[in-house]
Amino acid sequence: MASGTVSSGKRFFIGFLAVGLGCGSEVAARAQEKPRVNWASADAPCAKYDDLRNPVLGDIGVKIDAADPWADGFRRALHFWNAVLAANFHEETNLNACAVRVVNGGSDILSKAMVARSQLTEWDNFRGKIAVNPGTARALSSGEMYGTAVHEFGHLLGLKHNASSRSVMYFLNVNGSEVLDREDILDLSARHKLRAAVVPTGFPPANATLIAVPITMPLGSFSPAEW
Ligand SMILES: [Zn+2]
Repeated sequence: MASGTVSSGKRFFIGFLAVGLGCGSEVAARAQEKPRVNWASADAPCAKYDDLRNPVLGDIGVKIDAADPWADGFRRALHFWNAVLAANFHEETNLNACAVRVVNGGSDILSKAMVARSQLTEWDNFRGKIAVNPGTARALSSGEMYGTAVHEFGHLLGLKHNASSRSVMYFLNVNGSEVLDREDILDLSARHKLRAAVVPTGFPPANATLIAVPITMPLGSFSPAEW
């Protein structure tokens, strides 16, 4: 995965497709089935994972056990969510004090092509975990790891996939240049208290859905034509 060949690039994009299949298409395909159960791992969960369901999130400790460069992407994602939500996401090493645990995922959780996977708040056995594939780190840019971290946190906060490729909750690929669009913000605001500056105003109209979040995100080279 470290070499820059065309084929490794294709595997990379297929990897994002697998991420989508892992947390998106399953939602649609199994919409009629209950109960839906999250993946599990042997890693002890953070004691405060249920805090992620609180309307006012407040202090949310995040125990990052994944190594750099994934860890760096997640640290940057904490700043993103602090700008959007009335919350204080911060790094926390104590299992008794954290709500989110970011772990290295094994093949039992992540298929070979998957880059990351989060548990979903509305499914059973929710323990506030995000698993990343350490083997994919060399194939991803820092922007892609950052965007993926923002995306996976979004799932922990109750967000579903968004059909818009401009949304960071798009189900195929994120590279850090995406935003939370109006649909994301509305969904988020139904679950959690937002920073006042982010509350949607009802504008712009539905066919121009982007609402900027108060953070400067790096420009990327996102191109849906590549898959
Ligand atoms: Zn997803």
